Amino acid sequence: MIYIHVPFCVRKCNYCAFNSKVGDVAEQQAYVEALIREINLRADDSTIETVYIGGGTPTTLSIVQLEKIIGAVRKAFSVDERAELTIEANPGTVDGNYLRGLKSLGFNRLSLGVQSFDDGLLKTLGRIHDSRAAIETVEHAKIFFVNVSVDLMYGLPGQTLNHLRRDLEHVKALDVEHVSIYGLEVEEGTKFFELKNQLPLPDEDTCADMYDLITETLPAFGFRRYEVSNFAKEGFESRHNVGYWTGKSYFGFGAGAHSFDGALRTSNVRDVATYIKGTEPIVEEVVTRQAAMEEFCFLGLRMTAGISAQTFSKKFGASISEVFGAVIAKNRLRGLLEVDGDRIYLTTCGMALGNEVFADFLL
Ligand code: SF4
Repeated sequence: MIYIHVPFCVRKCNYCAFNSKVGDVAEQQAYVEALIREINLRADDSTIETVYIGGGTPTTLSIVQLEKIIGAVRKAFSVDERAELTIEANPGTVDGNYLRGLKSLGFNRLSLGVQSFDDGLLKTLGRIHDSRAAIETVEHAKIFFVNVSVDLMYGLPGQTLNHLRRDLEHVKALDVEHVSIYGLEVEEGTKFFELKNQLPLPDEDTCADMYDLITETLPAFGFRRYEVSNFAKEGFESRHNVGYWTGKSYFGFGAGAHSFDGALRTSNVRDVATYIKGTEPIVEEVVTRQAAMEEFCFLGLRMTAGISAQTFSKKFGASISEVFGAVIAKNRLRGLLEVDGDRIYLTTCGMALGNEVFADFLL
């Protein structure tokens, strides 16, 4: 698995705490060169089954720049011919020609940062697109890609259940294959954080109703929930993200990107200018057996399929009930976890309170 971070955006959104910035042409070009340098330096004979270019807004780069990046990846690694190649794109940064270019580079999955189809909410968020651009981009994307995902947000200032109902209707009408949902979190360092006390945020009960509306409506529209925040038509689950939740190793290239080789977790320097100058990845953590067991559980439980007790034993040489028996029993009693033969998974209620359950698995 490979993740490539492109930190540039046209404008910084009001809620954004991601590693992203507005970059000029020279900085973008220098960044692409630094990325290629890093990819070449870390080349090995791994077979790659998924590549994910995220950001930021990767589609602020030109097709030629993306071609160079993907070309470097193909040269440095053995990319499987059936690999899933995803790129994130934002409405307002792509047109038909650009999408055709992405397809010609081998991308076969497009993840669109729509967030909402409501003009007022998009403006509040500080997005560069309006509802019309969102619809047109999805319609265009559907011409070139059979696998299109959209991101939707809830819990936004001024958002009502009716806004959300209309967003979900748009998703249905546009016939996309995958939806990721994000509840707004007002994070430090964002414009929203500065205005925190003035934002007309929906109260906790309304947010819970919004969450219920999403988790009930999307399955009724033919999307199967396969993870806490992700819904897909059959066969369109994100292979890349499933890889993270099942503990696969991955390379992360670019500013702030993380890597995991099965034992060691490393990260690149976050600052774009420093990354361009070139620095070694920083070792963040040697993943101990204990930490690996915890991760196996709290990442695997994010998926509706849950975790397999047998896989746990094979991987760690210990039975899951020996290590986490008390945690599993406690959460079963609370109605948050279910055990069915070999599988242990979150109940619907457990999905809503996932963070509480995950925290219990940290011994
Ligand atoms: S487009 Fe995404 S990454 Fe860029 S500023 Fe907005 S939220 Fe942040």
